[in-house]
Amino acid sequence: MDIERFRKAGYQAIDRICDHYRSVQNKPVKPSVRPGYLREALPAAPPIKGEDIEDIANDYQNLIMPGVMHWQHPSFFAYFPAAGTLEGIIGDLYAATAMNPGFNWVCGPACTELENVVMDWVAKLYGLSGDFYNSTNVGGGVIQTAASDSALVAIVAARSRYQRLHPDVPMDKLVVYVTTQTHSLGLKAGLVLALPVHAIPVRSEDNYSLRGQDLREMIERDKAEGKHPFVIIGTIGTTSSGAIDNIDEIAETLRDYPEMWLHIDAAWLGAAFSCPELRERCRLPAVNEYADSLCVNFHKWGLVNLDCSGLWVRDRKNLTEVLDITPPFLRSTEGDAGTVTDYRNWGLTLGRRFRSAKVWFVLRSFGVEGYQAHIRRSISLGEIFAESVRNHPELLELVAPPSFSLSVFRITPSAVPELSADELNDLNERYYQKINKRKDLALTQTKLDGVYCIRFVTGAQKTERCHVEVAFNICLETAKLAIKEFIE
Ligand code: PLP
Repeated sequence: MDIERFRKAGYQAIDRICDHYRSVQNKPVKPSVRPGYLREALPAAPPIKGEDIEDIANDYQNLIMPGVMHWQHPSFFAYFPAAGTLEGIIGDLYAATAMNPGFNWVCGPACTELENVVMDWVAKLYGLSGDFYNSTNVGGGVIQTAASDSALVAIVAARSRYQRLHPDVPMDKLVVYVTTQTHSLGLKAGLVLALPVHAIPVRSEDNYSLRGQDLREMIERDKAEGKHPFVIIGTIGTTSSGAIDNIDEIAETLRDYPEMWLHIDAAWLGAAFSCPELRERCRLPAVNEYADSLCVNFHKWGLVNLDCSGLWVRDRKNLTEVLDITPPFLRSTEGDAGTVTDYRNWGLTLGRRFRSAKVWFVLRSFGVEGYQAHIRRSISLGEIFAESVRNHPELLELVAPPSFSLSVFRITPSAVPELSADELNDLNERYYQKINKRKDLALTQTKLDGVYCIRFVTGAQKTERCHVEVAFNICLETAKLAIKEFIE
């Protein structure tokens, strides 16, 4: 493609992106396509001769876009938000054109240095301890693809630190700790690393947060059986209910087991660290004092487009000592001199995208105040929903205390008192299916202690009070209908 054709196609793409974002709220949130729709619509093999860019762009518009779920839609309340921004798109566009796979400083000095700087900026925005700053040259931050590979990398570092201290412990005696509410990333890491993962039960009366005493009991039981727990993943903002583990109690317990590593998964809720008034509630002081590593996904609530997951470590040596493999073809004068960061030694991949560009665009254009305003706004919108549930106790109930912008609710047992627990679950599942059939809003379901419930989370930039109110009315009317149909 010559430059002038690129210019034309690029302008057209930007126009279409603008048209889409201007009108997304008038479209259904969810696509109406069947599984396999695209395979049927596309040729089975690539074209022999190159095609015109305009035809490809038109097919994108006509074939791909109808299958896109609109996570930026103001009525998207499912999963956790992917609150990407136009500013992030611009950053990604520039990053795509730099095309530097910045694995070594020398391969793309700007990519490495910007990542170094923005990870310190975000650390400051989030009120993280100075120990995590890159500028210390001891701790530091790196951008990973996702919270799952952040956790995996943290566990690899924890294992290597433990094995340095206990070189004779066989691998099959090592144990990873999570809780019954930890995201499946813990089990996935265990699967990949062939390590057993023990899930410590958490209770509804503790709001599904891990207590220090339960951790201590599990450690003692495992040690008595000759096992070696070496890492625990604490969560700040669990997926099902937004629970926050008692990091202060966990830290207190770990003082007696100092060889264990504490990794914090704050993939979603970590963005709330940006607001000083929320830090205590998010147990950030204990994280700052004790955690060995910490992950926040900027690509969830953090205004940066997928994919972009921040991982900070208190001591970078724990990463680099285990992940630094330097064949002759990867050596560089600066790397050998130890005067630069070579990010390939901080993660799994060699080639890395220039993700810091979009973080930089977002942080500069929102500023600390704009970022905080986004978080505070999402929380107040979430509170409107939670309050609406509380105002209809004859039909609905919150299954766990609302957590910032997340509420978990269901049809309350007293709405249909004659139902058994299983029947009530059945009713709530049908209730959710009714909501889920709709294309004009998106919510997701979960189970807490065997109780079927529905999650509602705010965070899309375009969501306003009216969208939350409309969504709540749909939930309310659908509950009435679901009950009527169930008991008939
Ligand atoms: N941690 C929590 C608490 C999550 O809710 C999620 C996903 O929703 C993840 C981790 C996984 O994040 P990723 O997709 O970045 O691996």
